[in-house]
Amino acid sequence: MNLILMGPPGAGKGTQAKRLEEAFGLVQISTGDMLRAEVKAGTPIGLQAKAIMERGDLVPDAIITAMLANRVDQPDAARGFILDGFPRTVPQAESLDAMLKEKGIQIDHVIELKVDDAALVERISGRFTCAKCGEGYHDTFKPTKQPGVCDACGSTEFTRRADDKAETVAARLAAYHRQTAPLLPFYGAQGKLKAVDGMAEMDQVTGELSALLRS
Ligand code: ADP
Ligand code: ADP
Ligand code: ZN
Repeated sequence: MNLILMGPPGAGKGTQAKRLEEAFGLVQISTGDMLRAEVKAGTPIGLQAKAIMERGDLVPDAIITAMLANRVDQPDAARGFILDGFPRTVPQAESLDAMLKEKGIQIDHVIELKVDDAALVERISGRFTCAKCGEGYHDTFKPTKQPGVCDACGSTEFTRRADDKAETVAARLAAYHRQTAPLLPFYGAQGKLKAVDGMAEMDQVTGELSALLRS
């Protein structure tokens, strides 16, 4: 089974993708995580992407599509994958269709996590991540059980994304509405689009997604 998790920045795609990964034996493919790793490593892609990401704009389709094609070719992707943050433009979706057709595989579900813009700003500004194991947290909605200590691995180091600040969030939301939202009718026309209420509590969202994938 291959799926696409869609939704604006902060909708809960990463949070839910990690849970579905374990529950369904799928692999999460996050283009945002991949780009942040390229930036950190100072690769040519990272050098090109850094300023664009900090502005809250989208990285050019050609770079993203090539990076994604390599990732989907890795052996672990054959188990089935969850695309998180890709595709984000209609040309990316068209490239994905062509790429998968060549491999003889397909996307089974495209699920939109619906969250109001007002809630997204709060979600993004409170987001932080364990620097060691990558577990995601939120100042208000998912604090660590013990202050300053990761529940999952015990690390005391956390990171906040450079683009998770109020000024950049507005640009990211604008990019979503202008460039990514047109994918909803694109996948609607393919009969693959389903929507889940992303405003609900994390566990409830997981329950609804799981029910949808089991049906
Ligand atoms: P979020 O989780 O907030 O939706 P991501 O981690 O998916 O954000 O993406 C962070 C940034 O990386 C984006 O603002 C954009 O600059 C870049 N990016 C990630 N995926 C893509 C993509 N598919 N196409 C273009 N840019 C991307
Ligand atoms: P995305 O990958 O779509 O950008 P994340 O999964 O990183 O979004 O979630 C953004 C922030 O909101 C994180 O800090 C996460 O802990 C929190 N969060 C995720 N889902 C929910 C939810 N259903 N209710 C409240 N907070 C949530
Ligand atoms: Zn950790």
